Amino acid sequence: MDEEDTTGANKCPVCGSDPRTHPGLRFKINTKCYHRICEGCVDRHFSSGKAECPVGGCHVSLWKREWRTQTFEDLKIEREIEIRKRVNKILDRREDEFETKRDYDDFLELREELIMNLVFRTDVAATNRKLKEYAQANGIKTDPTEATSEPGVKAVKKKDVAPDAADPSGLIKGLKKIVLAKAKAPYDPFMGMPRTKDYYQVDDKYVSKVRGKPADAMLAGGYDFAEYMDECLLRAFAGLGVFIEDEMSTRDNTAIPIPGAA
Ligand SMILES: [Zn+2]
Ligand SMILES: [Zn+2]
Repeated sequence: MDEEDTTGANKCPVCGSDPRTHPGLRFKINTKCYHRICEGCVDRHFSSGKAECPVGGCHVSLWKREWRTQTFEDLKIEREIEIRKRVNKILDRREDEFETKRDYDDFLELREELIMNLVFRTDVAATNRKLKEYAQANGIKTDPTEATSEPGVKAVKKKDVAPDAADPSGLIKGLKKIVLAKAKAPYDPFMGMPRTKDYYQVDDKYVSKVRGKPADAMLAGGYDFAEYMDECLLRAFAGLGVFIEDEMSTRDNTAIPIPGAA
């Protein structure tokens, strides 16, 4: 079976009409975005003048007369565009990810070669396997419906992979080594003030008080009453750092001159 027949690509992408269930359904194509929709959708969307291509995400502006019956040449171009989109989505690398300009050019050449293999149907199985291995090794989803492990495609074993190689599948050469960014310290609302617990104590009876009437949030997995209490009390007291007793004793033997005092 041809690949185009299995994917539902024959359906109208706008209304979902399928020629298998709607015999006589005819398609029109335009040569601006090469989207292909059914005649009914062309009539519905373009009868009152210029409009945007109704295919999701495409905002190409078109007149009704720009939609025409598909020719064999259109089909070829449409197919190549689909292949390009698919491969570019998988082999998605920017120039700054490569060590040198030369490495980037090699990558572009490799990508073009793989695209052309698929367009001209040479080494299709091997090319698809390479793409699939690359996608799996780099955690790229090629098809949202597919199972995580597919028989026939061997996942790249961890031990075969250099830990600092940017492409674990080894398909793309010359990528810069991944430099793990230094973990950023989490935001500290107390700005370095010690989070001591000297200022308060979580009393068991606070916890038992809330436990009697669980709110939705309290039923969530990982929720801990004692932790919640602890965090509340910490926020309430630790941030202040003001202790009247301490202040009073400093006032009594004041070393710091109080402004305005004689
Ligand atoms: Zn349609
Ligand atoms: Zn379009």
